[in-house]
Amino acid sequence: MARYINPVCRLCRRQGEKLFLKGQRCVTQKCAISKRSYAPGQHGQRGKQKLSNYGLQLKEKQKAKWMYGVLERQFRRYFKIASKSKGVTGKVLLQLLERRLDNVIFRLGLGVSRSQSRQIVRHNFVYVNSKRVNIPSYLVKQGDIIQVKAKEKAMKKLRENLELSRDRTVSSWLEFNIQELKTKVLRLPEKEDIQQPIQEQLIVELYSK
Ligand code: SF4
Repeated sequence: MARYINPVCRLCRRQGEKLFLKGQRCVTQKCAISKRSYAPGQHGQRGKQKLSNYGLQLKEKQKAKWMYGVLERQFRRYFKIASKSKGVTGKVLLQLLERRLDNVIFRLGLGVSRSQSRQIVRHNFVYVNSKRVNIPSYLVKQGDIIQVKAKEKAMKKLRENLELSRDRTVSSWLEFNIQELKTKVLRLPEKEDIQQPIQEQLIVELYSK
């Protein structure tokens, strides 16, 4: 599956807020937003322009896409699934994003960013219900048992990541056994479990036009 490979700090600067795409660097003075809090590009310093309704909707969609590291086609596919489901479209859309396996690894603190968590999955370290899963977009479900197994060197790195992410609280929909690096999915995530707020209604309005 394709992924975004250009500089990610530009995305935060375009959005005008921290999206925490670079792990530890995001909480230091090196953060590009702290240094240059204006949009990237030649005309970035012109000042903030008032956005139209459409602009606001587009901005919110881009924010969700960039945060979860999903490209347009896949994001649209999530929306299609959400709109066909029986639940509330916006809520289901957020649940789908949150249930991605790379996001779960990030939420547990095993990866310092979602892109690093994606690598952890791609490198065959993650098992779901005792089966190896190396697909970052794999959707976990209630009752799943997720375990991380790796050789000593990789394990050391994962433990270091846990130490770096210890200020991040593990979402309450996941029960994490830190000794065994084993997690149980207790329930599906709710909007409150997503620490960075997303106005999903704006995304629904955008795609419903
Ligand atoms: Fe965004 Fe992190 Fe870059 Fe800051 S350091 S601009 S929060 S990705």
